[in-house]
Amino acid sequence: MTPGWMRRLAVHSTVALGIVVLLSGGGLLAQGEGKQAAKRAVAAQKLDAEYTAKIKEYTQDPRVSTELVDHLPASATVPSPLKFLGRIVGTPDYLTYYKDIKAYMEALAKAAPTRAKLFTIGKSEEGRDMIVLAIADEATIRTLDKYRKILADLTDPRKLTEAQAKALIAAGKPIYWATGNLHSGETGSAEMQMELAYRLIVEETPFIQNIRNNEIVFLTPVVEVDGREKVVDNLRYRQATNGKTMPLIWWGNYVAHDNNRDGLGVGLKLTQNVLRTFLEWHPTVMHDLHESSNYLYTSTGAGPYNMAIDPVQTDEWWLLAKYEVAEMTKRGVPGVWTGGFYDGWTPNYLFFIANTHNAIGRFYETQTYGPQNQTLNLPVGSTSREWYRPNPPLPTIKWGPRNNTNIQQSALLFALQYVANNRQMLLENYYIKNRRAIEKGRSDAPHAWVIPAGQRRRGEAANLVNLLRLEGVEVHTADSAFAAGTVQVAAGDYVVRMDQPYSNLVNMYLGTQFFAPGNPNPYDDTGWSLPLLRNVKLQKVDDASILDQKTHPMRMMGVDARVPGTVTGSGSVIIVDHNGDTSIAPFRFANKDVKMLAAEEPFEAAGRKLTAGAFIIPNADRARLEPSIKEFGLAAYAVASVPTVKTHEMSVPRIGYVHSWSRTQDEGWVRMAFDKLKIPYTYFGDTKLREGNLRQKYDVIVFPHVGGTAQSQVNGVQGPDPIAYKKTELTPNLGVQDSADDIRGGMGFEGLLNLMKFVQEGGLLITEGSTSTIFPEYHLVDGITVEEPSGLFARGVVMKSVFADRKSPIAYGYDSDILPVYFSQGPVLTAGGAAGFGVGGRGGAQIPGVGMNLTPNAIPQALATLDAPAAAPQGPGAVGGTRVRPQGPAVSIGARSVPRVILRFPTDPNDMLLSGGLLGQQALVGRAVVVDTPLDKGHVVSFANRPFWRWETHGSFNLAFNAILNWNHLDAGTAQ
Ligand SMILES: [Zn+2]
Repeated sequence: MTPGWMRRLAVHSTVALGIVVLLSGGGLLAQGEGKQAAKRAVAAQKLDAEYTAKIKEYTQDPRVSTELVDHLPASATVPSPLKFLGRIVGTPDYLTYYKDIKAYMEALAKAAPTRAKLFTIGKSEEGRDMIVLAIADEATIRTLDKYRKILADLTDPRKLTEAQAKALIAAGKPIYWATGNLHSGETGSAEMQMELAYRLIVEETPFIQNIRNNEIVFLTPVVEVDGREKVVDNLRYRQATNGKTMPLIWWGNYVAHDNNRDGLGVGLKLTQNVLRTFLEWHPTVMHDLHESSNYLYTSTGAGPYNMAIDPVQTDEWWLLAKYEVAEMTKRGVPGVWTGGFYDGWTPNYLFFIANTHNAIGRFYETQTYGPQNQTLNLPVGSTSREWYRPNPPLPTIKWGPRNNTNIQQSALLFALQYVANNRQMLLENYYIKNRRAIEKGRSDAPHAWVIPAGQRRRGEAANLVNLLRLEGVEVHTADSAFAAGTVQVAAGDYVVRMDQPYSNLVNMYLGTQFFAPGNPNPYDDTGWSLPLLRNVKLQKVDDASILDQKTHPMRMMGVDARVPGTVTGSGSVIIVDHNGDTSIAPFRFANKDVKMLAAEEPFEAAGRKLTAGAFIIPNADRARLEPSIKEFGLAAYAVASVPTVKTHEMSVPRIGYVHSWSRTQDEGWVRMAFDKLKIPYTYFGDTKLREGNLRQKYDVIVFPHVGGTAQSQVNGVQGPDPIAYKKTELTPNLGVQDSADDIRGGMGFEGLLNLMKFVQEGGLLITEGSTSTIFPEYHLVDGITVEEPSGLFARGVVMKSVFADRKSPIAYGYDSDILPVYFSQGPVLTAGGAAGFGVGGRGGAQIPGVGMNLTPNAIPQALATLDAPAAAPQGPGAVGGTRVRPQGPAVSIGARSVPRVILRFPTDPNDMLLSGGLLGQQALVGRAVVVDTPLDKGHVVSFANRPFWRWETHGSFNLAFNAILNWNHLDAGTAQ
């Protein structure tokens, strides 16, 4: 049903005798083009009649189209997608492999070298090349470097006079970079970009000429190039096997949909490649094309907007989005809207690379490409007319891949038109944003951030500096010691001056966040302060004198920071200080055949105090070890004899690493950290736990977060028939990470018992996030309760945690009682002693209420009186809303012992939050963050935090690595 006001108003192309008369698309012509444009307004170009007919045939509803995309011009020299692939873009039931998309883009660049240029921007983890196809008019493509230089110059107004800036703005051209198919299941943008590329190169309407003449379009059809091939494999398998599915277990090598949340860690190759390319070209707009809303959402966000972003920029989000909504609405295309969907707060998205660098980062969410035709029915909530949705989606519509192509290509063309029409304004804005970032650093505190180079975790300090440099931030080092206000700076300290173009990024990354819980539900993490998550000390400088080079001499770093390791003294024993740096565990594994001891207590040697956890290497082969110590940036001391301190031998463990077959999204971040730091492991699926003999193969098993309930994690993938996941002729791109003939059944009860047996026989099981709930919920360990507090709001926050047991090897190297950790909602773990009460002992006394409920969805237990410390205030919806999650079947096991809480949340609810938003925090008072539960000869170490979150949480890596290095001596430091 279409109300009259919704009818199409726009002029459409008219097809006659194979010649199309293309009228200029809606909207204004470029400024200053008046008469010439009018002359060009009607241009004749031969139409690709076959392609055009197919567009009409595949379009499921004529309302989901515009005059911009309802045809395709013919070309004698440039191959159309139909000519190259044998079908048009938007053909139902087909998806194109990335290798063919890339080949097509290469063919375009070859056929039209005067208007298109292709370059590769780096490889994926699986070794595929990522590409950009640049498109513009002939003169621009010939002199691309000239335009690159103009944008680079506008990025740094410190080197420009106002007159020079004006001249550059007049001469420059914006770059609009559209990136597609980052999320592997969102396939349409990759297909659409092939047709868009052809159209931009070939079409001779004033509309397209305007775009070609006034801006440079960058197209990256597929960002997650490894995932694309897997998705197409899956479709082929489904089609060849009558609808049987081989699920998409992995996208890229590491993470699935989180591949767009890597902006703060920059751990994935795709992020690194996009960031490097951004800093090389300074695109004016970066536009990431997603596919999970009806029918086209164009991003503005509903706030709260990130506070560090220039207001000009958040306004630009609206300028572009409203233009698209207006032009599409004018043409009667339903369901094009902006506003809510996301917030604009967290700077970790791929497109935020533009926003953190004073350009414009934005995204679409479109209705699925499919690729099958279907009838789409939407709920009332999606079809109401709202202020942000003037022409809402329809309750029912015929949808298909061509609809998706039409709607996203049309809207994107209007965005390109807007940028062409407002070329100078956008370049001026870009210049102004860069200039204001510099001016703000001069006029407003902070004027600089100082990262002391000589701090205890100096390797991690250097890593943080290098991350900033990777982001294009200028970092200086102090030439000599000086004071700036109250901040004492030592020679060699890292200084991040704020009088630079990317100062907003610096504040965003180094500052702390406060997210008022009263805001609309956040889209992602609410706090991410990197110095906290990386456990690096730094100081904010509020005194502007630091910017004066005469009194505060410093020089810009030309190369990355590197901390050279040192070996001082002489003697046959080498002591390596465990300073908590990320490189300590990699050093151990790099020298795995060298006998090393861990000191269990602080001690003195080589004339200095060393902490518990220091590595002591008797009879050391210095010639061999010294290069390694230097490489890993560690501080070591050679002494004559083994110091008198209690030690244990660190035997290098065989690590097994379990992934669930139902979800690998989150374990990928953990695996990435292990890979980057070269911690070796054997990777296998949860179903293999059923095979038993775990202890014969492994000393440590790492089982990272899966998500879901304890039961769903044990049950794994379900289904009536075997589900294979492997490389076959039909699916040549699967089976890279792992494969199986049947992925169903999870570990099952049998695998769970094998895991328990593994621990009982002396193994160490490490769980984090959701997998930390399995043993407590199945009652395999005593004294740990999993709670689900209903009033808790802790969405991706940096929390203060407190060491409850400094003598555990897990705490080795940490010199403070406090450690900032990443935490998000759960699991909330109460463990013996954690909240100020002790339970059980060997043989196991029971917490009342725990272990009574064997069925899912059991009655909520009123554990409040037990959980909360007596003095804690009980806010509404906090402790009172606590309930115990359902218990699995109780298993009769042998010896049990008291969980040892290593790290816990503070007891003061008002002293917990370090960065982000928090409400209902009484539910976290004294709760366990890291628990070590002995079970017969072995241990289960459970993390309620996420020690390896998105390559951001380097400060907590060592909690897990310490457990691994001391896997068979975790009882060290106990009274026994
Ligand atoms: Zn997406």
